[in-house]
Amino acid sequence: MKWAISYLWLLFACVAFSQIETGIEQGEIGIEQGEIAAGSRWETPYFIIHGKEPGPKLILTGGVHGNEPAGSLAAEQIRNWNILRGTLVVIPRVNALGLEANTRFVPGAEQGEQDLNRNFPKPGSKNEATGALAKSLWEFVTEQKPDWLIDLHEGYGFHQLQPGSVGSSIIDSDTIETDRSVPSMLHAVNAGIGQEKLQFVNLSPPIKGSLARATAEFLGASTMILETTSKDQRLPFRVRQQRVMVHELLSQIGMIAPDATPSMTPPADGDGLKIAIFDDEGVSSNGADEVVKTALQIPRALAWRVDAEDIRDGALKRFDLVVFPGGSGSKEAAALQESGRGIIRDFVESGGGYVGICAGAYLAAANYPWSLRISNHQTFCESREVPGLGKKSMWYRGNSATVAMELSAAGKSVLGDFPDTLQVRYHNGPIVSAAGLDSLPKYQVLAWFRSEVSQYDLQQGTMTGTPAIISTEFGNGRVLCVSPHPESTDRLRPLLAHGMEWAGGR
Ligand SMILES: [Zn+2]
Repeated sequence: MKWAISYLWLLFACVAFSQIETGIEQGEIGIEQGEIAAGSRWETPYFIIHGKEPGPKLILTGGVHGNEPAGSLAAEQIRNWNILRGTLVVIPRVNALGLEANTRFVPGAEQGEQDLNRNFPKPGSKNEATGALAKSLWEFVTEQKPDWLIDLHEGYGFHQLQPGSVGSSIIDSDTIETDRSVPSMLHAVNAGIGQEKLQFVNLSPPIKGSLARATAEFLGASTMILETTSKDQRLPFRVRQQRVMVHELLSQIGMIAPDATPSMTPPADGDGLKIAIFDDEGVSSNGADEVVKTALQIPRALAWRVDAEDIRDGALKRFDLVVFPGGSGSKEAAALQESGRGIIRDFVESGGGYVGICAGAYLAAANYPWSLRISNHQTFCESREVPGLGKKSMWYRGNSATVAMELSAAGKSVLGDFPDTLQVRYHNGPIVSAAGLDSLPKYQVLAWFRSEVSQYDLQQGTMTGTPAIISTEFGNGRVLCVSPHPESTDRLRPLLAHGMEWAGGR
């Protein structure tokens, strides 16, 4: 046992040393890791991050309900913050199986024990949790003797509009400490919400059987449940709201530097590709999901969603690659605003990678007032007079369809050794030709369309034989533009994953 402990300390020392070496922000005493419910199907990791100075111990939990992803993602990001004082204990994926299956309940739990957040000891009853996962978590939390426990959740509706939901609320255990912190947490998160009825409100106490209620009643800690609202709000926005609230609390109780920002911080360790996937106005409903699935096929890759505000806040400096999924290129550009578009250009110019799929390939083009001009291509999009129908824009070719695509030799070396001709989903992606700008290098064609779809007679013959996938460079960065949707088909995801690795410089 003794050797095990000293080995562990050696490991801490190495971690601390490598962090000092690289200047990465992280507690210098180190990080302990282990598992809750170890060896069972519900096994899930915890992280204990020690600050340099003594201070409070705060437990942060996410993903207790598996269909509430924002809290889990926020906890994953917060665990990489630089803790100055005290100890931050993070269990980012409490109900890991539920998160995978996108279900509130714990998969495989006994009848009556499926809602994890009703399985902790209730006021006035025995100090005992029900169900294997709750028992293991409760034992861990009890051993930790926390001063604070913050549990991150999501509601389906805004509480002010739908009182049946606790969405957009902070539910606290009513201690002197929580009463001191809740107003400034509300102030911080509500500063980013224009409509008053969508703002966060304070509720209390946490429901009986919840982890927050039990930790307050049985362990005497100050506890809160932070609830974002999933209705009509994209994931990166909800994750940022969670970060902002936790950030306000941690800075109030002195655990992080007062000038720290609630940033999206990937882990300092790990050599995997760090991929930012745009998920904001203009991205189609499942566009980002399919890109995340594709990105996670790359070994050790980290794939986090970002929105325009994250980008304007400087999140990209922590990533190797940004991906713009399908949807509407002009709307994606509008969401970014001019400053965000400038940041993308600077990011690529200084060596970052760019992958644009369908809308993202319009966004990279050189021919629109709103486009990024990081690739020397233009798109076939002018309006033409269609007999009997009036002026029609040529980009529109109708519903989603399958077309044939042929890889070039260059395409095979970047995208992998796939059969020459592939069937791929196409949905109004750009019909690409050279823009001929002197300031940009020529692009390379990695794949050609070998069949076409059209809505109007005028479009016939304008797609077959044009580039389906092109690659180029902008400054020190690599740019990949993909007109069709390989991310929509399981068998073509590896092709796009290779393209992402190439664009990310791997
Ligand atoms: Zn919940």
